[in-house]
This record gives sequence, structure tokens and C-alpha cells, in this order.
Amino acid sequence: MAIMIREDLGYEGLQVDWNFSSKPGAKPELSESVQNTPIAQDSLMVEIEGIHEGPTRNYTWYMTEGLQSSIPTWTKPYLRPLIMHHNEKDGKIIGRIRDVIYQDTKTLSGTGALVFTANVPDKEGKEGIENGTLKTVSIGAIVHDCRCSICGANIAEMSQEELENHEHVRGGIYIIDGVQKTCYWQIYRMEAKELSYVIVPSDIYAQTTKIYKPSKTAMSVAANFNNEGVLNLSEAAKLENQESTVIDEKQPVGDPTPAPVPTVEDTDKLKQEIEDLKGKLKAAEEGKTEAEGKVEDLTAKATKAEQDLTDTKVLLEQATKNIEQAKKDLILKEADLINANTLRESLEEKVINLNKHVKESLIDSVITLRESLGKPVQAKEDLEARSEDSLKDAIKDLKEELSNPAAATTITQTVNPSVVESAKDFNSDVKKDEKASNINLQEGLEKVFENIFTDKTRSNFY
Ligand SMILES: [Zn+2]
Repeated sequence: MAIMIREDLGYEGLQVDWNFSSKPGAKPELSESVQNTPIAQDSLMVEIEGIHEGPTRNYTWYMTEGLQSSIPTWTKPYLRPLIMHHNEKDGKIIGRIRDVIYQDTKTLSGTGALVFTANVPDKEGKEGIENGTLKTVSIGAIVHDCRCSICGANIAEMSQEELENHEHVRGGIYIIDGVQKTCYWQIYRMEAKELSYVIVPSDIYAQTTKIYKPSKTAMSVAANFNNEGVLNLSEAAKLENQESTVIDEKQPVGDPTPAPVPTVEDTDKLKQEIEDLKGKLKAAEEGKTEAEGKVEDLTAKATKAEQDLTDTKVLLEQATKNIEQAKKDLILKEADLINANTLRESLEEKVINLNKHVKESLIDSVITLRESLGKPVQAKEDLEARSEDSLKDAIKDLKEELSNPAAATTITQTVNPSVVESAKDFNSDVKKDEKASNINLQEGLEKVFENIFTDKTRSNFY
């Protein structure tokens, strides 16, 4: 037994059909017959990622085995149709599946996928594919091994009634051993039915990936199919060895080619490359460490320079303050100097005044003595013109004259009482002098003459 499913996500969801004839190798149904087998020059080649490994929005789950098991059935015994909207009976066949491969790298989903190459001769189909209105697809397949992901029961072996009574419902959530699990129909083996452009695919990644014009080789190969799309067995045998070549030619330049199986030599080479890369990584890390060290050094230097600059600024500020202080000190010193000069001048003036006072005293003494001796009083101006020493000499002479008793009598008669007092002082001083008290007249006369002589001399002088 088997069921047929269509991975559309229309209002019906997953379409499951129990009422279909499933005879492996059966002749194609009339609606699937091919009217125009050769690949026409004006037809379109389309590459389609038709179905991917993993869960779909219909809660079906395509296993690797399921995809791979279907590969031969897409083109043998006849080329499966590419249609629109899964509408096999009323819908339009726009082309045929010419090739299918299982690819597990660089797919839209990142998981394994069946990648179809289809030829589309239909005008409406070509237009729809080229303008993008025909973009997403879903597969229709006859499923022979489909297991309940919860209990492992083979859904494909069940009747519709059995399935309706099954305890696990597709998309249902069950707690198994404390773990929450969703029920999927896991497809392990299936047979191709058709590939259809649909509006809403169940497999969100299922869509056209490339569009290109057919090559001459592809057209030539296609010519070996009969008018019902069934490959002539003898021709098929001849083509068996060419098949891969044909596939390669259909793939545009730049299309990723499958990675070859690694050999021991390749492994060694890879190991060497890994070692080289490790070396480079290490060198890069060392370079990075070195660069980081340099950055640290530079940062330290910059910090030091900033510190130095700050220090310099502080020093400069201090120096500026010192200069200002020095200026103030200088101003104060200048003031001191001015004061000192003023003081000096003041002292000098005092000295002058003092000297003047001394001279006046001397002059007064001379006048007084002369008056005491009864001598004519000299003009004060004349006396002022004389030097201090000269005045002192005069005073000395006058005092000696006063010590003469004869002269003293005269003095007594002429001087006023105040002067007599001064004269008495002078006489007492004189009397103290032993020599003076013993002086005789002769000596006194001699002295007078001497004085006269001296006075004359001095008069001559002045
Ligand atoms: Zn179950």
C-alpha cells in the first residue's frame, strides 16, 4: 500500500490521496503524456530546489533516504511533469523534469535537497517563470514508507480509517518521557509523481533558482526520448555514460561542483595547510601582542609627556610668581634707596646746619670777647667770611688777652654785667693754671706785643 501526498499549503493543507493506482513502472497516465519531447530551442531550462530535508509546514519530514530513493523515479520510466497548482487533470503541464540530483551543500535551506532541472516549452509557463509569478513549488509523491515520528508506525501501510483512528495526529504535540514532541510524518521512501508551481509551498525553500536557455547538447540528448517522454532503453544505455556530461553542461559557469572524495594525499595536504594556517595565526597573534605592547608604550610615553608638560606648567607658574615677587622686591628696594638718599640728604643738611651753628657760636664768642676787652666790634659779615680755624685762633688770642690783669681792668670798666660773669669764668680758669698765675708783667707785655703782631698779621691776612 501507499499514499499520495502533495506538499501544497493551500486551504486543504497536505493533500493525501488513498484512491490512486500505484503500480511501479506503470505506463504514464494520459494526462501526463508528452506531446513534444525534444528540447526546443526557444524553450526554457529551469533549475529548481524542489524539496528539502527536514520538516515542512505540513508537518511532513523528508528524510535523506526519502529524497534519494525518489531520484530515479523523476525521469524513469518517463519524465515526470512540471505543472501548475497540482491540478493534474484540468491543470496545464508546462514542462518536464529532465534531471534531478541530490545536493547537500549550498542549498537555500542549508540542508540536503532535490535539485531539479526542468525544460519548459509552454509559452504561459515560460512567461510565468521569467516574470516570477511562477516561483515557488511543491512536490507530489507516492509515499511507500512514512512513519509516525512519535511511535514509528508506518502511515503508508494504514487505510484512511486506520489513520483516522491512530492515536497520534500529524502536527499534534505529545509529552514523551517528559519531553515535548511534535508528531511528524517522516518520509523514508517515495516515488515521484509531479512537481508543481504553487502559490503557497509547504517547504518554504522550494523554488526556482536558475533560468537559462537550453544548450545544443541538451537538445540532442532530449531527442532520444520517444514522444511519450519514455526513454528508449537502447538509447538510454548509450546515454548512461553521457549523463553526467549532460548535467554539467546544463549547469551555468560558476555553478559549484560537488567536492571530490578526499584521498590520503588530500588529507596530508589539508593537514599541512592547517599547520601553515596555525603558524600564520600564531604569527598574527604575536604581531598583535607586539602591537599591543607598542600601544602600551606609546600610551605610557604620552602620559609621561603630559605629566612633564603639567610639571613644566607648574614650574613656569612658579617662575612667573618668583619674577613678580622679584619685581615687587625691586620696587621696595628702590623705595628703600630713595628713603636712604632722603635720609642722607637730611643728615647732610643737619651737618651743614650744625656746622653753621658752631660757626655762629664761634662768631658770638669772638664778638663777646672783643667787647669784653673793649675792642671795636667787627662787622658780623666779616667774621662770617672767616674760617672756623681762624675764629678759633682769634678766640684763643682773645682769651689770652683776657688773662692779662691790665687788660682785665679795662674790661671790667667796659663790659656789661653778663659779660663780667663770663670774664670771671675765664679768670678762674686762668687762675687754675699755675703758669699763668705766676706770669710776670714782662711776660704779659711780650704776649700783648705778640698778640698785636699776630693781630696785625691776621689783619693783613684778612
Ligand atoms: Zn504514532
